[in-house]
Amino acid sequence: MAAKERSNATPGESGRSCWNCRYQDITRQDTFLGVCTWFSKHGRKDKQIPPDKVDVGCNHFEQKVR
Ligand code: SF4
Repeated sequence: MAAKERSNATPGESGRSCWNCRYQDITRQDTFLGVCTWFSKHGRKDKQIPPDKVDVGCNHFEQKVR
């Protein structure tokens, strides 16, 4: 009757992910994941954050200041 150990490794809680990135805007969302505003700050059109990226971030990641 071994209790299943609970992992504390929650993806996206710390480190690089869209959730910790200053460019994520979840107030302007079409999906739950929000919009990446990096693009509009660099002369492009903002993009929806894809589900496969939201927990790992991308090379433009910058830590969100709280
Ligand atoms: S896609 Fe990159 S720049 Fe955009 S919110 Fe995620 S980590 Fe930040």
